[in-house]
Amino acid sequence: MPLLEFNSKGIYCQQADVYIDPWRPVDRAIITHGHSDHARWGMGHYLCHKHTAPIIRARLGVTNIDTVEYGETWSKNGVTFSLHPAGHVIGSAQVRVEYRGEVWVASGDYKLQHDNFSTPFEPVRCNVFITECTFGLPIYQWQPQEVIFNDINNWWLENSEQGKTSVIFGYSLGKAQRILQNLDESIGPILTHGAIENMNKVIREECCPLKPTTLITRDTPKSAWAGGLVIAPPSAAGTAWMNKLKPLSTGIASGWMSLRGARRRRAVDRGFALSDHADWNDLNTAIKETGAECIITTHGYTGTFTRWLREQGYKANEEHTEFEGELSEINEAATKEADEVATEKEEGKE
Ligand SMILES: [Zn+2]
Repeated sequence: MPLLEFNSKGIYCQQADVYIDPWRPVDRAIITHGHSDHARWGMGHYLCHKHTAPIIRARLGVTNIDTVEYGETWSKNGVTFSLHPAGHVIGSAQVRVEYRGEVWVASGDYKLQHDNFSTPFEPVRCNVFITECTFGLPIYQWQPQEVIFNDINNWWLENSEQGKTSVIFGYSLGKAQRILQNLDESIGPILTHGAIENMNKVIREECCPLKPTTLITRDTPKSAWAGGLVIAPPSAAGTAWMNKLKPLSTGIASGWMSLRGARRRRAVDRGFALSDHADWNDLNTAIKETGAECIITTHGYTGTFTRWLREQGYKANEEHTEFEGELSEINEAATKEADEVATEKEEGKE
């Protein structure tokens, strides 16, 4: 019996009777991070990092949560567990599971780039490593974050000089705070859509300080956002809420923006290829640093990436999960684009 198995409810440790990021209601769940495809409603009991707890309390309305620090261990039925930084979003964790000398690590979502906000990823030695591969093709190679934020700040400055409001779309947990903390606030005021400000409030009150932001309400005067930058969720794009911000320029921050045509299809003025997931090189680096001989791929380009790992000499298998990676951060159009890229790759067109 494997230490962790994939069943219809989630990633299951039978020996300790606990699930990791289950997608169906179970009695006991360890949660890697607060994104909706990993932290779901209906569990009998939740266990997560102390910074993930306020996020899932706010999002799911649940209170039956225990928390741990990174590196703190706990045991059940001879199995020892601990959480280690995944660098994906605030509070995100890899789950280390050890039983009779065998170590498995379920990494949830992760990135190796330091974002100046989340606790940086730490490699954990193990025998079996469970990895996402949202961007598991060689075409995905991120530029250093400084380069991307230089682009974002320059775009904002140009808009400001032309009397336009800058509106940047990013997912409310993770991307929004990463953008906020890396903006050059000397350019102008930073404002937020309600969905972003709700998450900022939770993080400010229960996790850590953030740069100041102003929530845009019905009563906010236009003078408040003159020359400013507004952080909004992707779902706000094209809605009536945007009208009062005109004249404006729109941008979106997502790993999918590195794909040809992605910006045009999203009907935004600028696309910034900024992702909270590992790119091709970092996936390979992370896997190598675990020292694992066996790799299980869960979401993203699983088929292609698994074949690649086998060619490199790993024992590799893909498992079906209901995790969505960065697809959940944008929309189904990205799924289609990702499929097209994978198909082109398979057919040798790329
Ligand atoms: Zn995530």
